Amino acid sequence: MLLYNTLTRRHEEFVPLIEGEVGMYACGPTIYATPHIGNMRTFFFADLLHRYLEFRGYRVKFVMNLTDVDDKTITRALQNGVPLTEYTEPFAESLFADFDTLGIQGADVYTRATRYIPEMISLIQRLIDRGLAYVSDGSVYFDISEFPGYGRLSRVDLTQARQGERVASDEYDKDDIRDFALWKAVREEDEAVGAVWMTPWGPGRPGWHIECSAMSMAILGETFDIHCGGADLVFPHHEDEIAQSEGATGKPFVRYWLHGEFLQLDGEKMAKSRGNLFTLGDLLDRGARASSIRHTFLTTHYRGRLSFTWAALAASAEAVRRLFNTWKRLRDHPSTRTGRAEDVPVLHEAAAGALANFTAAMDDDLNTSVALASLYDFVTIVNTRLDALCTAPISAAEASAALDAFARIDAVFGILTLAEREQEEVADDRLRLWVEERIQARAEARARRDFAEADRVRDELTARGIVVEDTVTGARWSVRCQGEVRADP
Ligand SMILES: [Zn+2]
Repeated sequence: MLLYNTLTRRHEEFVPLIEGEVGMYACGPTIYATPHIGNMRTFFFADLLHRYLEFRGYRVKFVMNLTDVDDKTITRALQNGVPLTEYTEPFAESLFADFDTLGIQGADVYTRATRYIPEMISLIQRLIDRGLAYVSDGSVYFDISEFPGYGRLSRVDLTQARQGERVASDEYDKDDIRDFALWKAVREEDEAVGAVWMTPWGPGRPGWHIECSAMSMAILGETFDIHCGGADLVFPHHEDEIAQSEGATGKPFVRYWLHGEFLQLDGEKMAKSRGNLFTLGDLLDRGARASSIRHTFLTTHYRGRLSFTWAALAASAEAVRRLFNTWKRLRDHPSTRTGRAEDVPVLHEAAAGALANFTAAMDDDLNTSVALASLYDFVTIVNTRLDALCTAPISAAEASAALDAFARIDAVFGILTLAEREQEEVADDRLRLWVEERIQARAEARARRDFAEADRVRDELTARGIVVEDTVTGARWSVRCQGEVRADP
């Protein structure tokens, strides 16, 4: 399995530290606002990687942080006149609700920064002890001139570094390379929202970057396999994480760095600095389905800029509909017949082929668009096979091979499970409602011995391709294998 490692700028064969196990950390959201759909794409990417590693048989320990103390959370809590935790906690809850809506399985461990302050303090102490950090007016800064590996991940131009100068804000850009804050001395604002912790160098609060170093190593160890996040985090966040972690431990921090690209809306990067922010809720309110959003994400490689348009969502909705209908047709058809079916192993071969092509594409740095294409090739074969099932019945074994391929691929893509949930939520399953209403009408006609009416209702059902079977437990119905079933009564 090849993964593109930002650290080496190369595709590398993925070999975990411990055979069969993967430690993986993803930078999660700062819980100060509802994430926009571009943020959700990043979390979707981490989820996809997590799911695919499990598909490949790895036991994955997946950690995602929630930043609940930093410049932004403190500013917003202050504006709203509430304590920090009271301000942030509802955003954590809505985040998990959005994850569920979008079929994001979630991490094994969610770490909140405010619960790892002792780990941050001891990490900073180690950096001070090793001469890589210094105290200045109650704040602690990382001395980048003392860490020779600085800039290796982001490949920033270190000749632009402003030696001996300091940057206190959590976010800064490439032309502002300076000693960055590990710990920030207490201000009035911090006290007002309860964001103050005591340390050997005085009261204050952590810088954003130290949080991820401390939390990831606390759970996954000082060296672990995969660290991922949005491409906007390469500098300074991930660069600073490496400096802090490797500076303190003297060991390699992360072996594979993976970064997901932005999402573009009408050619613009969808980020908070612009006005074009859509949350998942905004998109659903405008009629988009979560399964279509998931599908749209899969159409573009995670390192490619995804152009997110209404047209793309509509095309995805149609693609999901086709996939779902085929899967449902296969699942619902009575695949118990044997005999000639054993001689027609079409779906066994197609299922094996689909899984092989899917795996080959995903092994190539999660090439989801090619993997999707292999799934749709499979859908075409299954449909052709289903159309012919009256002359060449599908055996239970053949159907289960095909259904297994759908299930295994969907364990990674998560489209079918989401579409099915959405289907169940849609109350207008009109055919089913119509059939059940007609069967009830027929039963009532029979009960009052109006057999002419009962036969008429039965003919009405037959004309629509519905076969009614009377059993001891009542009428059972199925869709006839030949002929089109019209969805609209
Ligand atoms: Zn982080």
